[in-house]
Formats: sequence, structure tokens, C-alpha cells
Amino acid sequence: MSTPTTPQSIWKCGECGYTLTAPIPPKVCPQCKKECEFKDVGCYTPDCGGPGNIDPRLK
Ligand SMILES: [Zn+2]
Repeated sequence: MSTPTTPQSIWKCGECGYTLTAPIPPKVCPQCKKECEFKDVGCYTPDCGGPGNIDPRLK
């Protein structure tokens, strides 16, 4: 039994490209202060380094 970890995703602001790591995307981007669409650009395969890295294919 391992300790459950909070699922973290890497979110990228569709407006300014700001990225942040959080379980869920924020409503308002902390950088451009707009309500923008956040895309999950986190990596989930060993190809791009595993969790915690940005998948280069999702730029
Ligand atoms: Zn933004």
C-alpha cells in the first residue's frame, strides 16, 4: 500500500502560455489575469520524462 499522492497536472494558459502545476486549472490565469482556457500539457509517458515534465508534443 502506497500513500496516495495528489494528482498533479501541468496546465498551460491558452492566452499567454503561462504554465503551472496543479490538480485542477485555476479559473483566472495568474499571469494575464484573464479567464482563459488551460490545456493539460503534462507528460504521462516515459518518452518525455514522465510526470512533472511538459510533453513537447502538446505545445
Ligand atoms: Zn494567461
